[in-house]
Amino acid sequence: MIDHTIAARLVKLIGARKMNDIDMEQARMEALGDEIARLRKLGICTHGHLQGPPGKPVLTCLDCGTEFGSHQEVNESRRHLLNE
Ligand SMILES: [Zn+2]
Repeated sequence: MIDHTIAARLVKLIGARKMNDIDMEQARMEALGDEIARLRKLGICTHGHLQGPPGKPVLTCLDCGTEFGSHQEVNESRRHLLNE
């Protein structure tokens, strides 16, 4: 599960400086990267590297070989894995 509270904790650590939207997005992306790395260490693929032949709806994950019928299918799988 992604730690969505990391940005709030960073606000406390930084103190006087107010976090802007870019800081918040950076913290969110770092938390997402940490979660993807954690899942990878557990042997769970989040299907980040996809390839599909032109003109065909099939997308294949280059990391684990899972085939998907559409980008929507991939996104649903990633959302489920990353609990977004
Ligand atoms: Zn995969």
